[in-house]
Amino acid sequence: MARIAFIGLGNMGGPMAANLVKAGHEVLGFDLAASVLKAAEASGVKPASHVSQAVKDAEIVISMLPQGRHVLTAWTDILQSTAQDTLVIDCSTIDVESSRKAHEMAKAAGCLSLDAPVSGGTGGASAGTLTFMAGGSDEAFLKGKPILEAMGKKIVHCGEAGAGQAAKICNNMILGISMVGVCEAFVLAEKLGLSHQALFDVASTSSGQCWSINTYCPVPGPVPTSPANNGYKPGFAAALMLKDLKLSQEAALASGASTPMGAEAAQLFALFEKQGNGGRDFSAIIEMFREKA
Ligand code: NAD
Repeated sequence: MARIAFIGLGNMGGPMAANLVKAGHEVLGFDLAASVLKAAEASGVKPASHVSQAVKDAEIVISMLPQGRHVLTAWTDILQSTAQDTLVIDCSTIDVESSRKAHEMAKAAGCLSLDAPVSGGTGGASAGTLTFMAGGSDEAFLKGKPILEAMGKKIVHCGEAGAGQAAKICNNMILGISMVGVCEAFVLAEKLGLSHQALFDVASTSSGQCWSINTYCPVPGPVPTSPANNGYKPGFAAALMLKDLKLSQEAALASGASTPMGAEAAQLFALFEKQGNGGRDFSAIIEMFREKA
């Protein structure tokens, strides 16, 4: 079993660290928020008073932080206190540029590194069923895979440094665009007098099928487990969808990719958040289209 340092024990990091403890690893944790650190302690994480204390003697270090700037700050501290050959894994969703910079910092310090963002949300983090999208060398991936398996059910090696972040933001750009499309179709169906169930029965089994309709249907009824049946309680909050769409647009600008639908989806979710909906599930954007209609 490994000695693991876990930096950032919030909504995702807390349950992920708890699953590492359940798998028999020794986990030392650090978070800037004392209340968060205390909650993690209750699940068996040993609290550290500083990053350096958590990572000293750790074989693996994992970070789960809000944004690229938090990751670069934390990795600066981490890499000052770790031994050479330590594997440092960032599971946050951040911009590709910061991710690649973090990999370069690790290489300069003689450490192995992976970017390994996740999908599956807080439910997947608690259940240990996350999907990890990893970027980094074969050596880093082989060392990290058994650790990630304690927190997830699917671990994909997407390529070199930054490839995990690239896969994550491309996937979530598809999701943002497809949810907008599915919501528009239900609003049009309402105007045309077509029932939700009839549209679902046709589209979910024909060429309109996608995760946004088959699994996460934005109207109550056809898929009883979707957030639409629960007052649009997240699930996946609209603010997080907006964050990922913004990352996709930054990456499109930096790489010269043309993503007009991604840009449109980013604008629509920005408007939805501005109207006070950032904490609601992202599929609630259907209400904005109804109002507009
Ligand atoms: P969160 O805000 O609940 O947790 C982040 C934690 O990081 C906080 O507790 C904060 O105190 C801590 N932190 C910030 N800077 C720090 C530092 N320098 N050192 C130590 N701790 C620090 O966020 P979350 O929902 O757990 O999300 C974490 C990451 O996972 C984000 O990048 C997010 O986009 C991604 N993500 C979230 C979800 C989700 O459903 N919540 C799903 C997939 C991916």
